[in-house]
Amino acid sequence: MKRFKKLLPIVMATVMIAATMGGCASSNKGSDSKSGDAKSTKSSVLIGSAIYKFDDTFMTGVRTAMEGQAKEKGSTIELVDSQNKQPTQNEQVDTFLTKGVNALAVNPVDRTAAGPLIEKAKAKKLPIVFLNREPEKADMDSYDKVWYVGAKAEQSGTQSGEIIADYFKAHKEADKNGDGVIQYVMLQGEPGHQDATLRTEYSIKAIEAAGFKTQKLAADTAMWDKAKATDLMKAFITGQGLDKIEAVLCNNDDMALGAVEALKAEGYNKGDAAKYIPVVGVDATAPALQAMKEGSLLGTVLNDAANQGKATVNIAIAAAQGKEINKENIGYDVTDGKYIWINYVKVTQENYKEYLK
Ligand code: BGC
Repeated sequence: MKRFKKLLPIVMATVMIAATMGGCASSNKGSDSKSGDAKSTKSSVLIGSAIYKFDDTFMTGVRTAMEGQAKEKGSTIELVDSQNKQPTQNEQVDTFLTKGVNALAVNPVDRTAAGPLIEKAKAKKLPIVFLNREPEKADMDSYDKVWYVGAKAEQSGTQSGEIIADYFKAHKEADKNGDGVIQYVMLQGEPGHQDATLRTEYSIKAIEAAGFKTQKLAADTAMWDKAKATDLMKAFITGQGLDKIEAVLCNNDDMALGAVEALKAEGYNKGDAAKYIPVVGVDATAPALQAMKEGSLLGTVLNDAANQGKATVNIAIAAAQGKEINKENIGYDVTDGKYIWINYVKVTQENYKEYLK
């Protein structure tokens, strides 16, 4: 105890110096910075990140990955909820710039509205990384410090279509009216989102490439949302008749799970083989993998939230440190100097357990 008392002034002085140093850094780091964190040194990077809306299952997974990676790298990330409003997001970006962030990571509400955000970053010579919602090429080309992290939507569309095609190859009885044509309904994501457009198109192309004819009974948007999807699927069931629908294709898992709810309400997809309609989604979220386990969901496609989040943070940090954005510095392949494409993976009954946590 005595010894400790002797040491106390030294300890206090050290703490004070450390606090002052931390203070310098945090003037640059916003309210989130933890000055006690040994890793929050002056060299650490503050990333300002605006997410189109927090209430999105897939983006929640990406956010968690971003936070984890920033921590791992000794940097700070401040994440804000743009509440699905582009004007709100624009203001949030202004606030980040006033605060003095070192890099921006933006999941735009409206991907065609990326231009003004890029202009703002450019005026401050700051790096800006977009994710999940791809800006237009002209915007991407308008500044040398802009990058995009995403996944090729065509690939997820193709893989979800293949899951349906494989099911029909193995289950002749799935063609309920025996006309050799797959009658399907499609639940689509937000109009204008590249993933909605391309998944819709490529899933059907893949089914047809596998040798099947298809007939669209109905298609509409449920805005990536589970509750909206249940309502939409109920409307499809009422409009088409449950016995006419042979397959349900969904642009994401939340909507697939919403469709499953509507089917379950009719006694379908609950274990009775005679009352089953194959449903496919995209994302491989935890609840979707559970639904695969219980047998109510046929399959999904892994949309790799962990790697998308990690790549985004790695680019933001490397760019803020003035490093070149290449595989060596960020750990991911870079296409055309600006694009980081994370692969999708088909998730079926054979491999879903690998992704179940
Ligand atoms: C995901 C959806 C998500 C959307 C948000 C897509 O890539 O599959 O689940 O709602 O991104 O932009």
